[in-house]
Amino acid sequence: MSEKNFSFDTINQELLKFLDESPSSFHAVANQKEMLEAAGFTRLLEGCKWSLEAGQGYYVTRNDSAIIAFRIPKKDFAGFQIMASHSDSPVFKIKANAEIEVEKKYVKLNVEKYGGMLCSPWLDRPLSVAGRIVVRTPEGVKTKLIKVDRDLMIIPNLAIHMNRQVNEGYEFNAQKDMLPLFSAESGENVKGSFLRLIAKEADVKPEDILDTDLFLYNRMKGTILGLNGEFIASPHLDDLQCAFASLKGLLAAEPKDSVAVHCVMDNEEVGSGTKQGAASTFLKDVLHRINAAMGRSEEEYMTALASSFMVSADNAHGIHPNQPDKADPTNRPYMNEGIVIKYSANQKYTTDAVSGAIFKALCAKAEVPFQTFHNRSDMLGGSTLGNISGNQVALNTVDIGLPQIAMHSNYETAGSKDTAYLTEAAKVLFSAAVCGDGDGNYQLKW
Ligand code: ZN
Repeated sequence: MSEKNFSFDTINQELLKFLDESPSSFHAVANQKEMLEAAGFTRLLEGCKWSLEAGQGYYVTRNDSAIIAFRIPKKDFAGFQIMASHSDSPVFKIKANAEIEVEKKYVKLNVEKYGGMLCSPWLDRPLSVAGRIVVRTPEGVKTKLIKVDRDLMIIPNLAIHMNRQVNEGYEFNAQKDMLPLFSAESGENVKGSFLRLIAKEADVKPEDILDTDLFLYNRMKGTILGLNGEFIASPHLDDLQCAFASLKGLLAAEPKDSVAVHCVMDNEEVGSGTKQGAASTFLKDVLHRINAAMGRSEEEYMTALASSFMVSADNAHGIHPNQPDKADPTNRPYMNEGIVIKYSANQKYTTDAVSGAIFKALCAKAEVPFQTFHNRSDMLGGSTLGNISGNQVALNTVDIGLPQIAMHSNYETAGSKDTAYLTEAAKVLFSAAVCGDGDGNYQLKW
């Protein structure tokens, strides 16, 4: 394939900045809002009436942790072209009444797991805390973003002398092994010390903090590495790499016959079953409201769905250099070799021959490489959001992702070329229309 002139360096630097500024799903959404505002998109609120105009771009958030941005073409539209990804990653959440005193000498914090993470990467590295708090105001309550921007905690390993068998395998106990060391305070200063720190950061009174959603985050910044800069390593590549590429594609696209919809849901790592997750009505509500605000009938909504296409974009497993036999024998996705189309006979991934074919045609139009992924037949894979979203809005959907290794580590590795490929594919998707021309036949209008 003749390769286009992609500006890999530029997009990687932008991605690294986005990742660094997005230590929680709330921050990931806030940063996308900023990018959309800068590009002239108008904010909509779910609680207010929408008046929309052809040719304009809009966005709406739910729970400050999920976001849908869309652009309406200048003329009447055939359907919706959607790319869906997720804002959350496996992480440790800080519990209420977090301080635990140890022999009146140390204070550690009580945390619990959010999602299925690799535990060991959380050990022996500087950590801090990010998320949101909800504070009392004279009128009611108000949320505030929190990012403590300094090295604050560490989850220390046990010395090998006290567990000589550790390298033969270790079972991590979340209540015992994963609690971060926070301070050396003692006595009456201990209780409430964590919330007092957060109150100071937020410039509010501790007693005004009514509740919190606060998470640990890895302080190590993302980087480009490899002999020739082939790889990108960072926290949150799953799935902010896809969310970022989707948004960049939207900003570069020119929707002509379809509404372009960039959709980033929360809580994929815990099954998507929240009001801001892919199992919720968020996407359906937004599509309905676009249809109604443009003066179209319910019948026209149904015909639009039949002429819509969704790309469920969630990172994929690349071949691991030390464990190449963990992958399927004939489908071998490598980092830097393009977008991965995911297949599962049991339809854990939504891809079928039609949606796979349409996406391959789309990659050809975008002049980007693609590869295919199946799980080994004797191994269960992970799940994603495409098939869950399909329960609310059923349309032709393909499951794809960018090839990465160390998925669900708090420092993951991917290819330094693949973000640019997905951005280009997203741009083509958002500029195109897939029109149902009878079941089984589709016109692809680029
Ligand atoms: Zn994911």
